[in-house]
Amino acid sequence: MLARTDTVATIAERWLAQFEAALAGPDRPRLATLFHADSHWRDVLALTWRINTVDGSDAILRELPTHAGRACPIGFKLDPHRTAPRNVRRAGTDAIEAIFTFDTAQGRGSGIVRLTPDADDGNAFKAWTLLTALDEIKGHEERLGRAQPQAKAYSRDFRGPNWLDLRKAAAEYDDRDPAVLVVGGGQAGLSIAARLAQLGIDTLIVDREARVGDNWRKRYHALVLHNQVHVNHLPYMHFPPNWPTYIPKDKLAAWFEAYVESMELNYWTATEFEGGRYDENAKRWSVVLRRSDGTTRQMQPRHVVMATGASGIPSVPDIPSLRNFGGKVLHASQYEDGEAWKGRNALVIGSGNSGHDIAQDLHSAGAKVTLVQRGSTMIVNVEPSAQLQYALYDEGLPLEDCDLITTSMPLSLVRKNHIALTETARTMDKDLLAGLERRGFKLDFGEDGTGWQFKYLTRGGGYYFNVGCSDLIVKGEIGLVQFSDIASFVEAGARMRSGETLPADLIVLATGYKGQEHLIGKLFGGDVAARLGPIWGFGDGQELRNMFTQTAQPGLWFIAGSFAQCRIYSKYLGLQIKACELGLLR
Ligand SMILES: Cc1cc2nc3c(=O)[nH]c(=O)nc-3n(C[C@H](O)[C@H](O)[C@H](O)COP(=O)(O)OP(=O)(O)OC[C@H]3O[C@@H](n4cnc5c(N)ncnc54)[C@H](O)[C@@H]3O)c2cc1C
Repeated sequence: MLARTDTVATIAERWLAQFEAALAGPDRPRLATLFHADSHWRDVLALTWRINTVDGSDAILRELPTHAGRACPIGFKLDPHRTAPRNVRRAGTDAIEAIFTFDTAQGRGSGIVRLTPDADDGNAFKAWTLLTALDEIKGHEERLGRAQPQAKAYSRDFRGPNWLDLRKAAAEYDDRDPAVLVVGGGQAGLSIAARLAQLGIDTLIVDREARVGDNWRKRYHALVLHNQVHVNHLPYMHFPPNWPTYIPKDKLAAWFEAYVESMELNYWTATEFEGGRYDENAKRWSVVLRRSDGTTRQMQPRHVVMATGASGIPSVPDIPSLRNFGGKVLHASQYEDGEAWKGRNALVIGSGNSGHDIAQDLHSAGAKVTLVQRGSTMIVNVEPSAQLQYALYDEGLPLEDCDLITTSMPLSLVRKNHIALTETARTMDKDLLAGLERRGFKLDFGEDGTGWQFKYLTRGGGYYFNVGCSDLIVKGEIGLVQFSDIASFVEAGARMRSGETLPADLIVLATGYKGQEHLIGKLFGGDVAARLGPIWGFGDGQELRNMFTQTAQPGLWFIAGSFAQCRIYSKYLGLQIKACELGLLR
């Protein structure tokens, strides 16, 4: 503990007052006394209109006053309605963590400062990390609480259209186009559409599936979510308190339907987005939507938000000898269930989540299954090990405080944190991991030991949350071979380098999906894809590429990720689109 609870607030208040005075000057020498040399400033729109992290006091002292000069932040103070300043341990360091609010010329924001003592400067408390994040644009606040819609258009109007008539008309788009078209109605699409609706922006979601929630409904029979219910709320409407810890897929799908109704989202099911072209002069898209009855509709939205998930285009490896195989070959995306394969032989190529889940599904249906491992894989027990990283959300803090704390962590510290969590998980799961190694399973723990979370953030796969398949492999109930031990595929299955033949009736290619850039090329043309570059992953930077932020293509935005990511970043994506609509952003 760095300081007594009553003094923690005083220390934070004093820092904020000094910070505001130094920023207003701007008084760079004074500002320099407030940051450690090894400090980090993450701005989420509030001062820069970007999502950006600046590392090191030299860079912070260069950039912060410049941006503050434009954004004019004032009124930095602790927020009495949020978690009080407290002693915490983050990424292995003890710090005072304080949530504060402030105003800018254009908006209101909140932030988090983490203070640690500087032993070389009389133990003066200095900023180790600073977050400044935009919450709302002045004059364009979300229509919540007292600002809720008054429903004057239909209230007690016995002659005019009632609420349902107006809702139906709004969702039909007979006589207008939406300002924003959201492609994909999974949690990413729902989250951003709900945010935009509260900001008063006319938004339509389209999804090729026949029913809202089909993105979950159509996944494997036994699926329950991998992390716990309280981490996964959608914006505005929390899951009921009596819900199970791990939400079953069909329950989630039904909730999506209820969410669309309750949040009054305009949602066209059975509608394929076929692509679009941007008109630089009109600053609008021209997009084509194909509905399941074969008709098409052209629309001219100002913005297109791609919420199509990672599972865009299946990645099918070129294995020439597979043409010799006499049985059925499916990509994981085509696999539905194992009943038809009872008593028959199946090879599942790929050892990520899909590969393991399909292997287990086939095994439970009575198939004789062998998992074929192509590369090393991280294995982590879904409980408790995979839940370690959500400890913050178990502390009992309000969800919005947990989300702000999550947002406030710069990438380098998130990495450090995940290295420690991965090490702990590895110890917890040691018996399982040893059993797998005995079977010849090749394990890894991510780049520099950063674990599954970074595999997810950088390549969207390469790990498995064990819900039982690893145990079946250890027990030998599901077979395991290495892809490198297969000489070629033959009519009857896989011919191994040892000379034996592994018989197969079915081969499932659980070989993942291509990056979103492939989909973009298909839908918007190669030049747009080239302008954007890679989507997702960090590259050399500190933020996910092209995600939740302005891209090199005006009017094109992306949202994807876990429930928590979609909940957190839909807010900031919504604010950016609103700012564009208001002319505050290009
Ligand atoms: C087994 C499993 C368990 C998971 N568990 C969790 C968990 O516990 N917690 C968590 O946070 N995450 C979990 N995830 C990860 C992630 O949350 C999900 O993959 C989630 O579905 C991603 O949501 P999304 O909205 O980004 O994309 P998706 O759910 O993939 O939705 C994309 C939608 O876009 C539509 N679409 C795509 N292209 C077009 C087009 N051209 N025209 C019209 N519609 C189109 C699709 O039909 C689809 O409905 C899990 C994933 C899997 C596979």
